[in-house]
Amino acid sequence: MKVLHISAECFPIAKVGGLADVVGALPKYQNNLKTTSSVVMPFYNNRFTKQHTFTEVYKNTIALGHQYFQFNILKLVDSSLGFELYCVDIKELLFTENVYTNDDTDRFLAFQIATLDWILSGHEYPDILHLHDYHTGLIPFMVSRCYKYKPLSNIPTVLTIHNAQYQGWFSHDKVNLLPPFNFEDVGLLDWDNTVNPLAAAIKCAWRVTTVSPSYMIELKQNANGLENLLLHESAKCVGILNGIDTAVWDPETDKRLLKNYSSTTVISGKKEHKKWLCNKFNLDVKKPLYTFIGRLVGEKGADLFAEIFKEALSHKDISILLLGSGNPDTEKEITSIKDPNFNTYIGYNEDLAHKIYAGSDFLLMPSRVEPCGLNQMYALRYGTVPIVNAIGGLKDTIIDIDNNGFGLLHDGVTTANVNAAIRRASEFYSETKKFRSNLKTIMAIDNSWNNSAKTYVNLYKSLKK
Ligand code: ADP
Repeated sequence: MKVLHISAECFPIAKVGGLADVVGALPKYQNNLKTTSSVVMPFYNNRFTKQHTFTEVYKNTIALGHQYFQFNILKLVDSSLGFELYCVDIKELLFTENVYTNDDTDRFLAFQIATLDWILSGHEYPDILHLHDYHTGLIPFMVSRCYKYKPLSNIPTVLTIHNAQYQGWFSHDKVNLLPPFNFEDVGLLDWDNTVNPLAAAIKCAWRVTTVSPSYMIELKQNANGLENLLLHESAKCVGILNGIDTAVWDPETDKRLLKNYSSTTVISGKKEHKKWLCNKFNLDVKKPLYTFIGRLVGEKGADLFAEIFKEALSHKDISILLLGSGNPDTEKEITSIKDPNFNTYIGYNEDLAHKIYAGSDFLLMPSRVEPCGLNQMYALRYGTVPIVNAIGGLKDTIIDIDNNGFGLLHDGVTTANVNAAIRRASEFYSETKKFRSNLKTIMAIDNSWNNSAKTYVNLYKSLKK
């Protein structure tokens, strides 16, 4: 079975968040199951594309309304990713340093049209088109309604919603940028009087998945305006938990670590990384180290971080280190905390993230919305205890220590709730024997893609009958 994943992000080519990690891992695991999964994404002007060789496999021109753009389909020569990677190169629109810009409507529309034109030109069509998030959300509509794509209309489309907050809205004035379709169908593109690519995908895709079972349930109550649509389309929706790429995220082999460690050498391995972090960030190595890695946005609870951290630090018995970037006001609030037990790295740093997973005692994830969350699974694998809000994928992957589990859950994101969890965590940390034995337990938990990759393949098979 030939599966084509279509996405704006894919690790290690271009990553902003969890979407990239999923698209960089799922196809590889599917290829172990005898599917032929490959990925198509935009060709960005970034370090990866500069450092790797690509060959041109197709070339044509797309029409975006009255404008024409030349595009190339480039194939990555290096075959070590575990799947074939294709990139859509449109110099005027997609060749940017960052994945996202202030206005992405034309960019992602052109990406989707060029991808479909390329597929249409081929001799052998994919058996499944697997679309990721709103950036590719117009494809189910286009293959089923645009005249020129009629030959593709029997290919099943699967949409995975990684984050329903972002929907790619644009004005009806731009509807003429899509290839021609019967105007009676325009309602399929609409939600609340705007063109809504995510809503269009939910309406037109053959199946809709989200990245955890709990998030699927939550979306029917809160999906940034799409709750009723998801309720209405329930029959074709399913939550499938993400996995992690254990080839990339393994403390026994991770090249970004100072020293590799296993569950038998976890104490010394983590100690070395904690020492390095505390040295670099001027923190006291004797105190339990609490960390956060991620985007500084409301979904992650970041607007409350300054308050939460100040309260936690007032007890003077813990250290906190934060790696992230996002809302400028939040960054300012956080960096203005002056406390000897607190430090930050504002920015994106993949290398440092790996060392933080290795050197922390606890990872904080007080997210208000967390479709799946990967950080808690990376933390477990590196022997770091997650402290999470009981929501979405966090609820599906973490069991509380007071419930015969291995992590800490709190109900709701308030300064008091997060701090109560931090206090419980510090008590747990002081019970050295129990705490250390838990490290071995969490490192052994299997959150790899093996099971979920199978579930996706079974879903594809059900559509091909
Ligand atoms: P989201 O996709 O909502 O941002 P996820 O938990 O699904 O959150 O995935 C986050 C991914 O991004 C993880 O691999 C995490 O380590 C990484 N990440 C987030 N922020 C940073 C950062 N500032 N530096 C390095 N890695 C980061």
